[in-house]
Amino acid sequence: MSPVLVTGGSGYLATHLIAALLRAGRPVRATVRSTAGETGLRAAVRRGGGDDGGLEVVAADLMADGGWPAAVAGCEEVHHVASPVPVAQPEDPDELIVPAREGTLRVLRAARDAGVRRVVLTSSFAAVGYTPKPGAEFTEADWTDPDTPGLAAYPRSKAIAERAAWELMGRDGGDTELVVVNPTAILGPALTADLRSSTQLVKAMLDGTMSVAPRQRFGVVDVRDVADLHLRAMAAPEAAGKRFLAVADGPTLSLLEVAQILRRRLGPPARRVPTREAPGDEPPRPIIHNDRARGELGWRPRAVETTVVETAESLWKLGLLEAVP
Ligand code: NAP
Repeated sequence: MSPVLVTGGSGYLATHLIAALLRAGRPVRATVRSTAGETGLRAAVRRGGGDDGGLEVVAADLMADGGWPAAVAGCEEVHHVASPVPVAQPEDPDELIVPAREGTLRVLRAARDAGVRRVVLTSSFAAVGYTPKPGAEFTEADWTDPDTPGLAAYPRSKAIAERAAWELMGRDGGDTELVVVNPTAILGPALTADLRSSTQLVKAMLDGTMSVAPRQRFGVVDVRDVADLHLRAMAAPEAAGKRFLAVADGPTLSLLEVAQILRRRLGPPARRVPTREAPGDEPPRPIIHNDRARGELGWRPRAVETTVVETAESLWKLGLLEAVP
């Protein structure tokens, strides 16, 4: 059986995706920037219930051509997950935009040249709904305009990279199909102690670093459900050429509502989570539709409350928070 390629293998989402593929009996090849972290990646995949005997780890950087032809060789399926996800926005937006765009094009060209059947690309809701619109209701038909005034570097990088991907594959994609998954903020159990992206917010709430909740409202999706959507997007013939929003059912959440779930469900261990919201205007309440993924791919996301609670539980299990009293 040919291996399935997963780029950015050591990341938060990719470790879950690799574990899910291995659990399904598929051999996996994962790219990492540096193989120094291979032991940690293997441990993460085992934590996710995958047998890492089926995992091969190879080096490839989004900023360099070398490594990609060998990485895709012999693969029919590629999940392109790697992209810079910053803790803070850099001063120079190109620090994110260049690797996101150029890296995506490198992976797609290498996949096309190797005759890969399909690439599933992890884009973001940041490429869909970051240009304000009346009613703030979003489907896959919406696009973030990278020139939206005040747009931060990360959403710009995702919008530019996804556009570049569709443009390349429309013009010169050969027989290789493209499918795009657009997750909102991803939460859910971390498999590595090297905490990334949104899970840091939950840790900051629980350890008291975040004393007041910033006024933000966003869609949430479980990392395990995004991995599952990647698998469905790869398998369904009719998914070719489409984007799929990945968001849990129900309304978007404010950070204060996330804090309230933690307090209500976890009790005393959540005593430090913020009870107040920073002053300011009420942020927009986007309505984000997941009907396409549900209807066309049979995707059934977990309840947000489960995701939030299990994010916290994973932080304790990984020893990243004081022991539960
Ligand atoms: P993550 O843990 O930071 O994973 C990002 C991965 O990209 C890491 O493995 C990282 O490698 C790799 N990467 C970054 N720059 C690279 C480069 N120059 N060359 C090779 N690899 C590079 O974040 P994540 O949350 O799992 O994100 C995975 C994907 O989901 C990204 O495309 C992200 O934009 C998208 N997404 C995330 C969220 C979210 O809330 N987390 C929401 C929507 C979409 P290293 O391990 O070497 O740093």
